[in-house]
Amino acid sequence: MKIVIVGAVAGGASAAARARRLDEDAEIILVERGEAPSFANCGLPYYVGGVIESRDKLLVTPKQRLIDRYRLDVRTYSEAIQIDRQAKTVLIRDLKSDNEYSESYDKLILSPGASPLRPPISGVDLPQVYTLRDLGDADRLSQAGSQAEQAVVIGAGFIGLEMTENLVRRGIETTVVELADQVLPPWDAEMVTSVTEHLRSKGVKLELADAAESIVPVENRLLIQLRSGKKLPADLVVLSVGVRPENKLAIEAGLEVGQRGGIRVNEQMQTSDPDIYAVGDAVEVHHFVDGTPVQIPLGGPANRQGRIAADSIFGRSAHYRGTQGTAVVGVFDMTASMTGLSEKSLRAAGMAFEKIYVHPSHHAGYFPGAEQMSLKLLFVPKDGKILGAQAVGRAGVDKRIDVLAVAIQAGMTVYDLEEMELAYAPQYGSAKDPVNMAGFVAVGVLKGDQPIIHAEHLMEASNHFLVDVRSPEEYANGHIPNAVNIPMEELRGRLSEIPYDSRVVTYCQVGQRGYLACRVLVQKGFQVANLSGGYTSYQQYR
Ligand code: FAD
Repeated sequence: MKIVIVGAVAGGASAAARARRLDEDAEIILVERGEAPSFANCGLPYYVGGVIESRDKLLVTPKQRLIDRYRLDVRTYSEAIQIDRQAKTVLIRDLKSDNEYSESYDKLILSPGASPLRPPISGVDLPQVYTLRDLGDADRLSQAGSQAEQAVVIGAGFIGLEMTENLVRRGIETTVVELADQVLPPWDAEMVTSVTEHLRSKGVKLELADAAESIVPVENRLLIQLRSGKKLPADLVVLSVGVRPENKLAIEAGLEVGQRGGIRVNEQMQTSDPDIYAVGDAVEVHHFVDGTPVQIPLGGPANRQGRIAADSIFGRSAHYRGTQGTAVVGVFDMTASMTGLSEKSLRAAGMAFEKIYVHPSHHAGYFPGAEQMSLKLLFVPKDGKILGAQAVGRAGVDKRIDVLAVAIQAGMTVYDLEEMELAYAPQYGSAKDPVNMAGFVAVGVLKGDQPIIHAEHLMEASNHFLVDVRSPEEYANGHIPNAVNIPMEELRGRLSEIPYDSRVVTYCQVGQRGYLACRVLVQKGFQVANLSGGYTSYQQYR
């Protein structure tokens, strides 16, 4: 068996290593256009910021190790430029000598990744405008950073924010320009308001709901002109507005591609040509939750797909289940994480859903260092099946999203979350873990024990009688307009102050006392709902 693999990083290197483990005699050729196989794309922003000090650390499996340990034929500075499907050959150009030669294959695996998008604005090709994809990009940015005082990052997705953090770390005054009216566009807006505030607290300037229209060189510097009319001076610009699947080879070879340009594959990662497989950022996958075709460029899926392609080639039963979009990003010392479908994607798809918010501590509140997180859970109203989750905070956020990602994989419901037995000691979690808490609240909603109202609906309606059940001190620190303060401890004795014929909304800081108040009032015959996530969620919506 002779396997040629195009692209030797996440998907390609995984496929190669797996293929070798399955067949000691296979001839495996890794063709890589860049200087190194198997490098850490995900570490590049932190190399630019100096967190990863040694460039060698980015070489996850150096070329010589791939050769010695896996007996792979690794050809760097080599670009696959054409596929002849009839002859089953690939035309390869040696980028050092410019020589071209043809290599035959029994099976071909394409893992060429995705290239950074360059918006069609004037000045986008100026030398001080950077994208970040490979080691060379990181070297150039690192070098430019040593002379820069001001930078503009275009795009507030996860790579844009990671770059922002690392430019700030290098003492560079940084402004982020984002077309959407929020940072981290895949997340729901209310979940990232705290991230926005945190970025500002670190001195980052944010230009949201705006767009760069041109980049003009002014002496040795740049002037970025925004749609709003603002002009931002900068020494360098980082473009981070998304990626496009590298599909040229595939299209020219007549392989099927999807609407967004991703190479179409089946569950075995086989393209429309059964002898050609494709994996990673270049392929179209289906979303695990709703089955729609999507492009979700992430490292984990690329690695798993590489393994699956190799398994399939050697006749092992393997199939890709789809991509859930489980992601995590650090923004200075905050963490945002998500899995499954967001509220905005559920709305766009017209799918029925319910949601709840909780804001628990990441570990027992009585133990020093407890940090609050915000957790949002989306689920099917009919049966409680989990559709998605998002969490933002500091510590412990990734752990909860990972648990919920597994729950989604397993097809679990919010009823299962109530029953989950999760590790607990005071410095790690709580006897009622945030995941359990989310389950309790969601089940309470589904069973009708806890009628809820969401902050956005509360803001739309003015006919509610609002009862703030927090302490007078909490109330004095900020409350929802027109809310009456009746602390939970006094509620049972002050029921006569609440009109019987009004729709009542109870709320507290995070939803827990509001729930208790709601239970008291429901049992006394009031028409009542608890504000999901309490005043904390209300503030996140504003
Ligand atoms: P790649 O890993 O990009 O590899 C493709 C390789 O193919 C490239 O080296 C390219 O040079 C080569 N190539 C392309 N065309 C040819 C050709 N014709 N001939 C020869 N070689 C070719 N994902 C996460 O899940 N978490 C993160 O924290 C994260 N951080 C990231 C940070 C940055 C800065 C970047 C750029 C990406 C990050 N990602 C992250 C995304 C993740 O790196 C990708 O999803 C993953 O690397 C995709 O794997 P791949 O094999 O499809 O493509």
